[in-house]
Amino acid sequence: MVHFAKRVRSIESSPTVHIGDLIAEMKARGEKVLSLAIGEPDFPTPAHIVDAAKKALDADFTKYTPAPGIRELREAVAEKVQKENRIPAKPENVLVAPTKHTLFMTCMALLDTGDEAIIPDPGWVSYAPMVTLAGARPVPVHAGDDEGFVPAADAVAEAITPRTRLLMLNSPSNPAGSVYSRAETKALADLAADHDLILVSDEIYEKILYEGEHISPASLDGMFDRTVTVNGFSKTYSMTGWRLGWLVAPTPLFKEISKVQEHTITCATAFAQKAGVAALRGPTAPLEAMVKEFRARRDLVLKEIAKIDGLATYHPNGAFYVFPRFEAKIDSGTLCERILKKASVAVTPGSAFGEAGEGHIRISYAASRDTILEMERPRIVPMIAYENGAAAVDWLVRAFGFRELDRITESDGTISHAELDFEGGRIFLATPTPDYQSPKHHGKRCAAAKRWSAVPWVIDGLSVQVDSVDAHFARAKGAGATILSEPQDNPYGRLYRAEDLEGHRWMFIEEH
Ligand code: PMP
Repeated sequence: MVHFAKRVRSIESSPTVHIGDLIAEMKARGEKVLSLAIGEPDFPTPAHIVDAAKKALDADFTKYTPAPGIRELREAVAEKVQKENRIPAKPENVLVAPTKHTLFMTCMALLDTGDEAIIPDPGWVSYAPMVTLAGARPVPVHAGDDEGFVPAADAVAEAITPRTRLLMLNSPSNPAGSVYSRAETKALADLAADHDLILVSDEIYEKILYEGEHISPASLDGMFDRTVTVNGFSKTYSMTGWRLGWLVAPTPLFKEISKVQEHTITCATAFAQKAGVAALRGPTAPLEAMVKEFRARRDLVLKEIAKIDGLATYHPNGAFYVFPRFEAKIDSGTLCERILKKASVAVTPGSAFGEAGEGHIRISYAASRDTILEMERPRIVPMIAYENGAAAVDWLVRAFGFRELDRITESDGTISHAELDFEGGRIFLATPTPDYQSPKHHGKRCAAAKRWSAVPWVIDGLSVQVDSVDAHFARAKGAGATILSEPQDNPYGRLYRAEDLEGHRWMFIEEH
């Protein structure tokens, strides 16, 4: 039997990479998937960057380069970080490598078995596995909704032990798009200085910033000597497949990290490095246009989310993600799986980003506006309603003027049954919970719930049982709902479909 190292057995596959593969498989089968799961700009790499790579290929620039990168690119990066980030780096402090690899090498060079590295929770999916692969222990620090998704200095201080070596920061952040303020960054930097820790600052979303300022911790007084700053071309220049980024580190750290580079990838791809120079030195118009579009999409997603009961979100100031909290009492993995299977919309479960991410979904708006609109309405809306009987009842009360008579709330907080009244007409609403036949559903309730299970479920909507389809049809029409089908008879009863003013789809059914 093959023996696998404990270090790989103790990590899981990347959940975001897994979702990406799943989407690719579904598409290959000819299924339509609306993908809002991938952290990848949907713009082409700007032409002047592609041209630089073509030119390099034509000039046979296809061999090994110096391990830390070609001189031109190291100079361009040093210039950029000095000017834009106020980091006092020289070209000799710049190591060129794919961004993911810069983080991995940093962990390999700085962590020993038994050491600890503090990471934000929720945080990017690969921080914890990289720390584990280096033999150390990731220590997540809660940085959830209440903290504005920024690790608070006092929470970090509490997590520090004599074994703590690293503190990972990520602003703007994945998955929440939070941007650390100057004061927050300074407080974290002070902690690192007080406890002799190395800061690892992942600034890959630096340029995708809508409000606030980007602060590089390495620019703060005395911090350059204890900070590894990583950044790259993937997001800023839509170059995810080029596998190109960099790290900037003070000389002693640079030297040790470089050894890992020399014995792993040797150097970054030669012609991609030429393209990197063109990206840093070339026109900024494509980047500005992309960020402008991302901002418009961010606003669009937030507007759509605000219409969805049961979803609440913080206002992200950067990156291209929103990370709303949902009310349904199921785990985010199950919710996302159902949304994918039933509505063909791919979003990422919050649990992928750590314990504090549970109860959230990550929506990446690095997707066209059409995709965003198509996913929000009517697909995600009823899916959330489907998972959340309480919100469904509230909608009925608000949108159609029903009066709530009774509801049964399960121990997990979901509603398994509700009765509503509209001008004397009764509605039984039952969400299909596993225990709908439990002893507490006696008599009429039990009958309602059982009958309910025979109703053909509409994937993109919620069925509502009514005592008179005709009366409710007239009422829905009068209330301005869009009637999707006239009342018609089928084996189960008489039904019609409607979409209310907020875009929620309903099927009204009167049983025979
Ligand atoms: N850091 C963060 C926060 C990221 O979101 C990503 C990419 N999703 C990376 C690093 C890795 O970037 P790259 O793919 O360019 O190696």
